[in-house]
Amino acid sequence: MTTALRVAIVGSGPAAFYAAEAVLKQPGAEVDMIERLPTPYGLVRGGVAPDHQKIKSVIATYEKVAAHAGFRFFGNVELGRDVTVEELESYFNAILYATGAPSDRRLGVPGEDLAGSHSATEFVAWYNAHPDFRDRTFDLDVERVAIVGVGNVAVDVARILCLAPDELRPTDMADHAIEALSRSRVREIWLLGRRGPVQAAFTTVEVRELGELANAEVVVRPEEVEIDPLSAEEMAAARAVVRTKVEIVQEFSRRVPAGKPRRLHLRFFVAPIEIVGDERGRVAAIRLARNRLERDESGAIVARPTGEVEELPVGLVFRSVGYRGVPLPGLPFDERRGVVLNDKGRVLDPATRAPRRGHYVSGWIKRGPTGVIGNNKADSVETVNGLVEDVASGSLLAPANPDRAAFETFLRQRQPRLVTFADWKALDHVEVERGRPQGRPRVKLCTIEEMLAAIPRD
Ligand code: NAP
Repeated sequence: MTTALRVAIVGSGPAAFYAAEAVLKQPGAEVDMIERLPTPYGLVRGGVAPDHQKIKSVIATYEKVAAHAGFRFFGNVELGRDVTVEELESYFNAILYATGAPSDRRLGVPGEDLAGSHSATEFVAWYNAHPDFRDRTFDLDVERVAIVGVGNVAVDVARILCLAPDELRPTDMADHAIEALSRSRVREIWLLGRRGPVQAAFTTVEVRELGELANAEVVVRPEEVEIDPLSAEEMAAARAVVRTKVEIVQEFSRRVPAGKPRRLHLRFFVAPIEIVGDERGRVAAIRLARNRLERDESGAIVARPTGEVEELPVGLVFRSVGYRGVPLPGLPFDERRGVVLNDKGRVLDPATRAPRRGHYVSGWIKRGPTGVIGNNKADSVETVNGLVEDVASGSLLAPANPDRAAFETFLRQRQPRLVTFADWKALDHVEVERGRPQGRPRVKLCTIEEMLAAIPRD
């Protein structure tokens, strides 16, 4: 028997690893991390764009956390399938959920589910070799594509659609995606923002990169990047980066076409009101309302239709209007925000709004799908600070069986193919070795079966 602080962390993305790091600073603390996939790192593996390898260097920090004597990783273990919340409660003092936001927001317009209309999150997961999305297909045998939204995910998708085969091949993009994208006939891509450039969700580095693509030229309408009075007010009060972002897109609007093979149109003040199908039920066009900006009752700057409508013929639509959290078994869920009901990471009882003893959240399932990887550090530290306060006040769980070895034995009975961190490192090595002869960071394995087969069995 042990008297250590034992914490189960569900999920293994950035929020999970930053939480583990913070918990393990407590003397004698132990963390068991449970992950549904055989691979760790969440969106660092399955979301970060394959041509943005440098962003993945955060993994070195997570590997340091994993090397801590109090840390264990149990991959290929799903909450609700292999282990229940009640069972975790019998082995741990606290359970911290960092499961992210695996689904996507809906647009809520007719035609959203036509063949050829996809969420950007599916496309991203497919090209990043997420095993759940291995068998998705995207009809890239079309010339014109619309991407709804102007956040960084939309920008990633647009850039990936613009890259030439020679730019895709050296990356760790899934082989199936490199093959499909190399045969793509896509030539014209529209990124559609419902408000103006001041309000655009993309960040400066990401939008600047759109102007530096070798294979595509960026096209912006000068009249759509003029600053209206409300935007001028917002910009005056905003940080300097907002002005930089606007200057970047204004510079794009002054560019003379250079005759590159693809064109990336960055549009503002347009929002889809319908995705129009052809006689076979496939996407044929997107109908857009032209917008102007107004302040709503709360003072927020919102888009309102002017009454003017235009139709853009396209063969493919990616909806990139944000990720969305999904409910976790037995936890109170705020449907409106798509997060687990919580206060600074303490899960709340929906009836009493009192903290639910021993249950915590961090990352996107706590605050919603906003911010970059680094933002999850402060978020997880806030949650763990609460947890540590609760240790001091004696308000954690008192598990019936707080034994480290017993939990592993129990879990192995439930999931004989569980993947430890050493197993993951073996799988990691296989992927990196597959990439070496091709000068690629790795060649990812794309199905759970392939992944498990790559791990030596004792
Ligand atoms: P996001 O930043 O929240 O952007 C969502 C976009 O969708 C916004 O432009 C939003 O416009 C628009 N939108 C929402 N509802 C809409 C509707 N009904 N009709 C039309 N447009 C609509 O989300 P995201 O792009 O999924 O990114 C998620 C987070 O991951 C962000 O914090 C992002 O910065 C981060 N990320 C970072 C990187 C990177 O650092 N390289 C890469 C990818 C993702 P409104 O502003 O008008 O609502």
